[in-house]
Amino acid sequence: MKPTIVADPAQPDAAYEDLVQAALDARARAYAPYSRFLVGAALLCEDGRVFTGTNVENATYGLTICAERTAVVKAVSEGARAFKAIAIATDHDPPATPCGMCRQTLAEFSVDLPIVLANVAGRRVQVHLGTLLPHAFRPSDLLDRPAPEGGGAP
Ligand SMILES: [Zn+2]
Repeated sequence: MKPTIVADPAQPDAAYEDLVQAALDARARAYAPYSRFLVGAALLCEDGRVFTGTNVENATYGLTICAERTAVVKAVSEGARAFKAIAIATDHDPPATPCGMCRQTLAEFSVDLPIVLANVAGRRVQVHLGTLLPHAFRPSDLLDRPAPEGGGAP
């Protein structure tokens, strides 16, 4: 049974087509010799910069990193933390959604992030991160907390 994508009512924003193309271009650089599931991501920052990412697999499997998290790590390490949208490209139909770990990583910075899911056949689905990960654990859940009795030391 194919997964059902709960799409937001809006059609994919045509303004994101360049972002989708960047994700498709990145996908061609994916390192996925084990799964052969090539993924590209392109993260648009509020300052206009775009950071791309690919999945990078590892022979130990557990060290594999997804395209979306690669893009986030690249952006944050270059000083960008405010994101406008992310495009994710695969050859899957329907276009694949990000895994739970990537959803949580993106939610660290924005729960309202538009996500354009794209595939190589030209299909596009736009969703919001809050749709894919409702009630995300947020930085605000940790910040401004009083110190626990005893300072939290064991
Ligand atoms: Zn992932």
